[in-house]
Amino acid sequence: MSSRPHNFNAGPAVLPFEVMEEVRDALLDTNGSGLSVMEWSHRSGDYDAVRKEVESSFFRLLGLGADHGFKLLLLQGGASLQFAMVPMNLATVDRPGSYVVTGSWSKKALGEANRLGCGHEAWTGAGTNFAKLPAHGDWEERDGASYVHITTNNTISGTQWRGLPQTQAPLVCDMSSDILSGPIDMDRIGIAYAGAQKNLGPAGVTVVLIREDLVGAAPDGTPAILDYQTHVKADALYNTPNTYGVYLMGRVLAWIERLGGLEGIRRRNEDKADALYGEIDGSDFYRGTADPESRSMMNVCFRLPTEDLEKQFIGEAKDASMIGLKGHRSVGGCRASIYNALPPESVQALVSFMQEFERANG
Ligand code: PMP
Repeated sequence: MSSRPHNFNAGPAVLPFEVMEEVRDALLDTNGSGLSVMEWSHRSGDYDAVRKEVESSFFRLLGLGADHGFKLLLLQGGASLQFAMVPMNLATVDRPGSYVVTGSWSKKALGEANRLGCGHEAWTGAGTNFAKLPAHGDWEERDGASYVHITTNNTISGTQWRGLPQTQAPLVCDMSSDILSGPIDMDRIGIAYAGAQKNLGPAGVTVVLIREDLVGAAPDGTPAILDYQTHVKADALYNTPNTYGVYLMGRVLAWIERLGGLEGIRRRNEDKADALYGEIDGSDFYRGTADPESRSMMNVCFRLPTEDLEKQFIGEAKDASMIGLKGHRSVGGCRASIYNALPPESVQALVSFMQEFERANG
């Protein structure tokens, strides 16, 4: 393991090493079946057991007991497909979806609703380069909105909501970059969706948690595969799922449970984020780009005094076996993604490297 690079990629991202070892060993013979999970039928008992375990693990982690009223769908198409499916299923021209625009991804989500003529912008942080999230009362939910959409963690600008807002209409959350990074107040959620490739597993699985009363609202003419009800009715087997991705996700969920569930993972994430922001705040050389009240525990975005120094920093970090530190191409600078699976030692290595780099170049 010591020879592996420290992986600060924004997604697809680092996976827990012990899970990687486990799935490597299970690759040829999964669960004693004599075959790889990749060779199973998705309608087999073997796969059914894997899927059911993923479902019960997920609900256990969320603290949801019997009769919780949610469905868990394991789809494909990424969060980007959910940008379209949410308004197609829930919004109408008269009852649009109301979007709190806190970054490029929420802008894209609103864009899809607008294409259908049923998007409403409740707030935008574009004026501050998305460095800040709205304070309580800064944004107004549109009367009669069919839902309110937020992006709980903004992967590019490095901001994250602290707690979920209380809304009149059902709250729809894009949780792609912070799902299961800490406890979630499920009482406030109508739909939560996320691509798996940051906190849950490999790319190619999309998790959709949907409150049962929101299923079945799609208008006539909605293509079957884009209607949530199709997937609910087919018990998530309407078409061939990403069976291997779902299997791997199950191993990641079991790993989170071993770490103490969502409280355990939150403590681990807080410690990592504190160490990194502590280094940034204690230095005049590094400058965090997100407002301190809004900053993310998952994506830590920072600048150095010049773009040349940033280039040098990223290059030397790579030589020191730390990869993925380049900021998103739309904003530049540096970004360390420190998702659930990133080991605390990787953050320690980065902090030491930052101190060294400042001493040599500050
Ligand atoms: N939302 C957020 C917050 C993201 O970070 C991303 C991907 N980085 C997306 C949506 C798009 O996800 P996908 O590529 O799975 O469609």
